[in-house]
Amino acid sequence: MTFEPLASDFYAYESLPSDQEKEALGTLRAWLEADVKPIIGGYWERAEFPMQIVKPLADLGTLSYNWEETRPFENSAVFRGFVAFELARIDPSVATFVGVQNGLATGTISVCGSKEQRDEWIPKLASGEVIGAFGLTEPLSGSDSAQGLRTTARREGDTWVLNGSKRWIGNATFSDITIIWAKDVADDQVKGFIVPTSTPGYTATKIEGKISLRAVQNADITLENVAVPESLRLANANSFRDTANVLRLTRAEVAWAAVGTSVGAYEAAVKYAGERVQFGKTIGSHQLIQDLLVKCLGNITASLGMVVRVSEMLDRGEQRDEHSALAKAYTTARMRETVAWAREAVGGNGITLEYDVARFFADAEALYSYEGTREMNTLIVGRKITGKAAFV
Ligand SMILES: Cc1cc2nc3c(=O)[nH]c(=O)nc-3n(C[C@H](O)[C@H](O)[C@H](O)COP(=O)(O)OP(=O)(O)OC[C@H]3O[C@@H](n4cnc5c(N)ncnc54)[C@H](O)[C@@H]3O)c2cc1C
Repeated sequence: MTFEPLASDFYAYESLPSDQEKEALGTLRAWLEADVKPIIGGYWERAEFPMQIVKPLADLGTLSYNWEETRPFENSAVFRGFVAFELARIDPSVATFVGVQNGLATGTISVCGSKEQRDEWIPKLASGEVIGAFGLTEPLSGSDSAQGLRTTARREGDTWVLNGSKRWIGNATFSDITIIWAKDVADDQVKGFIVPTSTPGYTATKIEGKISLRAVQNADITLENVAVPESLRLANANSFRDTANVLRLTRAEVAWAAVGTSVGAYEAAVKYAGERVQFGKTIGSHQLIQDLLVKCLGNITASLGMVVRVSEMLDRGEQRDEHSALAKAYTTARMRETVAWAREAVGGNGITLEYDVARFFADAEALYSYEGTREMNTLIVGRKITGKAAFV
């Protein structure tokens, strides 16, 4: 499989991965272009997730690269970032499915689980045999989840009883397990539980009417006296600090997905600019359209440099909360500009699914807000710069 950096990767950052990593990226890109790109607009419009792609995603390694237990070969964080980038370049909903399954659900079990919990669940999540979800956000607690969770966990002997509600939980209409974060009434600390969704008292209801990431299935969850054995309490999740350790890793991947989303929109605009004729020449021959395209490429190139660096820091054990927070805040803000400029270049056709740019334009909004809004990530970086926490 020949693999070349994309023309939209102007400084050729995709030449950085090893030959084995490039081979895997090339296979993934070819599959996404052949099997996902042609169908995904219809799923987006119908607000359905294409379940038939779960097995190929697993077979291609996208659900297993991150974890020692399942990865097919040693790989770098830069490579794993490019996996998120390639997925989002074709479809941000598909990238989000993988981000939830592989990042938030498997990631939590990897970071916070015991060896027994990791051995039991990670291979099943990597193969797609088990679908996972991650339930942190609640109807009354989003940005303030470090302190504002209302879902409770009460220990009764070897059983924990969970009560409360969750909102926005991705993949949760069809997940087999959902990680539920809840406050232990005994010590007021946030703890995590692997909750099989068949447990009595657990219900998930699809959130309808979304204008962004329509193919992602988000759910409202209610927990009414949901009984979970002590063996399903995450052994190493003892406070919100442990939850934040998972979010540090997944936020960096969202930053990569934001760059992929920008590239998806930009490539659609470049294609259109080469085909659409106005005033007797292709619109790409007009200076102002070139200006839009160059501004997009500048954002993409600067953002790629940032995410490559933040992943290199992860590989060297130097990545801190503020590093991934800055990458998430910066790249999603640049993404929002980029998808708007790309859509502008496609004119009226830019608001239809047919010309490909509209889906990225709409999907960018959810990436901008989930896994910490720009404001929250800004406050994490602001705290580092000034030494002052300005959250409340
Ligand atoms: C498509 C989608 C998928 C999601 N998937 C998941 C998932 O799988 N699991 C999960 O747990 N959650 C998920 N979320 C939830 C997501 O993480 C939250 O939406 C996000 O954290 C923001 O919380 P909120 O929506 O409650 O907004 P709020 O916290 O109510 O914020 C509203 C606005 O106020 C701002 N704000 C809040 N506090 C401050 C402050 N102190 N200073 C300045 N500004 C402030 C925010 O930045 C934002 O602009 C998902 C959300 C979406 C949209």
